[in-house]
Amino acid sequence: MIHKKNYLLLLLLSFVLILSSLAVPQIQVEAASVNYKVVNTNSLNLRTGAGVQYKIIAKLKKNTVVTQTSKKGKWFKVKVGSKTGYVSSSYLKKVVAQVSQPSTNKNIGKFYSVSVASLNIRSTSSATSTKLAVARFGDQFTIKAQAANGWYKVEYSPGKFGWISNNYGYTTVKKDNVYPAGTIFGPLSGRIITVDAGHGGSQAGAQYFGVKEKDLNLKAAKTLQKELVKNGAKVVMTRTTDQTLTLEKRVSISKAAKSDAFISVHHNVSNKKSEKGYLALYTKQSEKTFTNYLFKALHKPVGAVSDVPAEQYRYQNLFVLRESPIIGTLMEYGYMNLKNELNAINTNSYRQAMAVGISAGVANYFKKY
Ligand SMILES: [Zn+2]
Repeated sequence: MIHKKNYLLLLLLSFVLILSSLAVPQIQVEAASVNYKVVNTNSLNLRTGAGVQYKIIAKLKKNTVVTQTSKKGKWFKVKVGSKTGYVSSSYLKKVVAQVSQPSTNKNIGKFYSVSVASLNIRSTSSATSTKLAVARFGDQFTIKAQAANGWYKVEYSPGKFGWISNNYGYTTVKKDNVYPAGTIFGPLSGRIITVDAGHGGSQAGAQYFGVKEKDLNLKAAKTLQKELVKNGAKVVMTRTTDQTLTLEKRVSISKAAKSDAFISVHHNVSNKKSEKGYLALYTKQSEKTFTNYLFKALHKPVGAVSDVPAEQYRYQNLFVLRESPIIGTLMEYGYMNLKNELNAINTNSYRQAMAVGISAGVANYFKKY
């Protein structure tokens, strides 16, 4: 039995309970994850929680694609590559469209988005027919027809039609790009670059003033990796730890990754005190222009942070370049036997400047070739 007083109390309590249950934020259930891209900012903070008071995990570049998994007010919980965190939804724009299934139905989708760095548009649905134009990563075309081998007929510029392989992109029903979470649209999007930290493990390379070349190479290679990724490239590392690696293995990693370019990172030594500065080396004739592009692009960023001079770019017969079909450069960051130069090159600012220069050089080269 309930006393009247208790009854009132119970009524009040249940009223409070109902109110509080209404105040509980609703948990959003998404049927499927949705892709968004970063807009209106060059750097969007990815945080550990839904609010500006939470720690920053990463800074997302403009056009980075994220996958939303849930939301909390104005904050979206997202996945970006291997990272998960919260971002303000004010800087996100929905990019998802349904991906059609060209093989199973006639509705092949309306648009085709290219997901490789470059793709030829040809006169017929054959890789040996006349090349009409080159499509770039992120280009999107209206599909006009599909050939029996899967190729699409597209309008590549107003009134001009050609055929493009269906194996290097996505079809969508809306004119919007569909790219995996973490995709960065940059000058190196669609490019695969292998970065090789010279020596490692039992092979220390040069050693001066208590510093081992293998350690400098690895630090510099990791800085370069970050910079290339920031510019959209997919980067394959030959080593990420202090590991012994044969020259053959370095070449085979780069070949297996189907790299567009190979960059080996080293630090130099000379018995002549007059030799100073950074040096870019090529072996194959096809690497000469590429190496020159990288070398040229270093002067400005490196000159801004150090007095380390630009030595030269030149030929040298090197196994990792000679034995690979992929174009590459072996970069000597500077001379370890000169105490002043070693002090200058063994800094984060120098490594970053070299990375910025190399990355710009690679991007400039691929823009032209
Ligand atoms: Zn070396």
